[in-house]
Amino acid sequence: MSWRHLSDEHPVARKPHHCFLCGETIEVGERHVKRSGARRGEFSSFRMHHECSEIANENFDEMDWDTVGEGSLERPARGES
Ligand SMILES: [Zn+2]
Repeated sequence: MSWRHLSDEHPVARKPHHCFLCGETIEVGERHVKRSGARRGEFSSFRMHHECSEIANENFDEMDWDTVGEGSLERPARGES
């Protein structure tokens, strides 16, 4: 049994959220990734920073997605924009 990826959305946060990967806050107004899928047969969705999701997409396989939890990843540094 593992994570099955269904869809990604890229909403702008209307209230603060926690990033599923690094556990830090996704600020209001920040565009982020909302991922939906099935975990062990149950529908699940979570939010994460864009940069965290990019790292995860590169480094995680389906088993990792099954076991990942909040704080699994250190948030990468961002350049000032
Ligand atoms: Zn994050």
